[in-house]
Amino acid sequence: MRKKTKKIYVGDVAVGGDSPISVQSMTTAKTSDVEAVVAQIHTLEKAGCDIARSAINSIEDAEAIPEIKSRTSIPLVADIQFDYKLALAAVENGCDCLRYNPGNIGGEDKVRLLVDKCKEKNIPIRIGVNSGSIAKEIIDKFGGVNADSLVASALEEVKILEDMDFTDIKISVKSSDVNTMIDAYRMLSDKVEYPLHLGVTEAGPLYQALVKSSIGIGTLLKEGIGDTIRVSITGDVVEEVKAGKAILKALNLRRDGIDIVSCPTCSRTTVDLAKIVKEVEDKTANLDLSAKVAIMGCPVNGPGESKEADFGISAANGMGFLFKNGKTIKKVKEEEIVDTLIESLVEANKNEN
Ligand code: SF4
Repeated sequence: MRKKTKKIYVGDVAVGGDSPISVQSMTTAKTSDVEAVVAQIHTLEKAGCDIARSAINSIEDAEAIPEIKSRTSIPLVADIQFDYKLALAAVENGCDCLRYNPGNIGGEDKVRLLVDKCKEKNIPIRIGVNSGSIAKEIIDKFGGVNADSLVASALEEVKILEDMDFTDIKISVKSSDVNTMIDAYRMLSDKVEYPLHLGVTEAGPLYQALVKSSIGIGTLLKEGIGDTIRVSITGDVVEEVKAGKAILKALNLRRDGIDIVSCPTCSRTTVDLAKIVKEVEDKTANLDLSAKVAIMGCPVNGPGESKEADFGISAANGMGFLFKNGKTIKKVKEEEIVDTLIESLVEANKNEN
């Protein structure tokens, strides 16, 4: 069962409570390069990203926020490391959320200024603790970088905000070590009601990042912990979104988009199944469809193996078969099977809406 957390809003996207678990990613172009950032957010939006985040490293980056926001439609989180003036500038320029640790500000008066500004503009703050950024005193106190020190560090940040009556908070305690990350989020989830942003930090290149994130994020989501996720990958940011959505789909936590179930093929397969799967993936990528599609390598087991899906297809000996509810409903030429499937999906989605 999903753990009940406080619902906050990042722009128009609800995070926490009973809201759907959102998928986030981060732009990599310099934020002041509006054209590049807008183009990147558009590709993220297309891939199904719910919330984008951009690093604000200069006043020019902060001043780019209004134009970026006017040309994109998903909420924008401003990621600031130390400079509280940049945090203030990001809020003043209309970011939808700040990722900022108030412990970095250096002084209660400055924290107060920022908190007042966030309250005035209704901007939540994500406290983002990483295994690489825990204060030395906390590391010493808890005997190293571990789940205890990650959580203690996050709670210290939370206290600063709560002492100023600021509770529009979400929290992350990311580690590059999957076991540490799981332990930290479990511990934190027991201690706070704030929504949690899950992620394995510095997860590595694609393959490694997918495995680490699926285990780390997936384990926690399965336990009902987590309200928004980011799969961090060294590489194409679109892959982060695709991976995030795939994790949610695998756990039946989101159903938007096409969920492909395809068999591994065996000696009964007489077609290039990988090619068919790729064709379905590519042709449905930009369609607003929701369905589970089974793609099977043989027509004998196809109907049975595709029973749990909305539609199934298979092909053999020049013929393509379309299945629904475990029965063959159409038989077409092999090269027409993908388009036949897509027509049926579009029709079924129309009827549902
Ligand atoms: S669906 Fe058919 S081709 Fe695919 S693995 Fe099963 S038996 Fe083999």
